[in-house]
Amino acid sequence: MHAASDDSDLHPDTVAVVAGRPAHAPDAPMNVPVHLTSTYVAGGDIAYGRYGNPSWTAFEDVLGALEGGRCVSFASGMAAISAVLDLVEPGGLVVAPRHSYTGTVALLEERAQQGRLRVEFVDIADTAAVAAACEGAAMVWFETPTNPALEVADIAAIAAAAHAHGALVAVDNTFATPLLQRPLALGADLVVHSATKYLSGHSDVVMGAAIAASAEHEAALVQRRTLGGAIPAPLETYLALRGIRTLAVRLERAQANAQELVRRLDGHPALDEVRYPGFGAIVSIVVRGGAGPADALVERTRLWVHATSLGGVESTFERRRRWPAEQPTIPEGLVRLSVGIEQVDDLWRDLSAALDTIG
Ligand SMILES: *Cc1c(COP(=O)(O)O)cnc(C)c1O
Repeated sequence: MHAASDDSDLHPDTVAVVAGRPAHAPDAPMNVPVHLTSTYVAGGDIAYGRYGNPSWTAFEDVLGALEGGRCVSFASGMAAISAVLDLVEPGGLVVAPRHSYTGTVALLEERAQQGRLRVEFVDIADTAAVAAACEGAAMVWFETPTNPALEVADIAAIAAAAHAHGALVAVDNTFATPLLQRPLALGADLVVHSATKYLSGHSDVVMGAAIAASAEHEAALVQRRTLGGAIPAPLETYLALRGIRTLAVRLERAQANAQELVRRLDGHPALDEVRYPGFGAIVSIVVRGGAGPADALVERTRLWVHATSLGGVESTFERRRRWPAEQPTIPEGLVRLSVGIEQVDDLWRDLSAALDTIG
């Protein structure tokens, strides 16, 4: 719940390391400690553990500085998404990508069924279609690249079209992270993160955050967190911030690994398709023959772990259509790879050996 700090002259890789630390004074700790307390002595600014915590604030200062806005941390990515959707007035129209995180699609559909909002799903890579759908919209919500289709949206063009119709623009920046993409600088009003993924980076935290361009939206999000109660735990914010400290080097390695694997996978006889947006460390491959061979692939590796979620230091993968909630337009044989920071030749040997057994 704090404005971006005054590190704006620094490169984001440096901000990730230096922001949100105690002032340099003799014997000051290097890190803001985990503040395990439910209440505070009266007379100060925080008062109670559901209203604030210095361990949240340290995380929020850093992520806010990286995204160029005002960060509010939440118990999970879904809690942050839910709070942002609460900014839509009852009955308002939300435009969203057909291919999005399944939880987001389910939440939008549930709220539409309850009559709390209306939703129109679009192909987010078709900027003209998105712009046309903006008429009468209260919010354009999207993630880019999309999960797991990896379509890329033109954030600046969509933001301009949405604003021309008075609609808010919210972007789920989980896949790209603020080191590869800064939606607020491209015109978005709000950004959300599943901090569970790249920001934490070690598959040991579930946490989320929303970042607002305006103080008004920041206050509304704090209100949602305070009254909705989906607060992060102090230890989780500490771990997520510890993750952000190494985000630049983790992402650099994971992205380089992903790019090398894409090069080697391209044209592989066991695959119909290799999808990669050109940045980040998520790759979707479409296994020839559909669900059967794809299910066989994810059971035959030693390093690659068959698991949902993404963004950890370890490489994981899963066939997305194993989830009934995944969109039917996602191919049955699509396996989403979350490329980690292991040595790329080891990753390739393991993956290609498994591919050879199903080909
Ligand atoms: C995982 C994920 C979410 C949900 O976040 P949680 O932390 O699991 O609640 C939202 N958006 C995207 C793109 C995700 O990958």
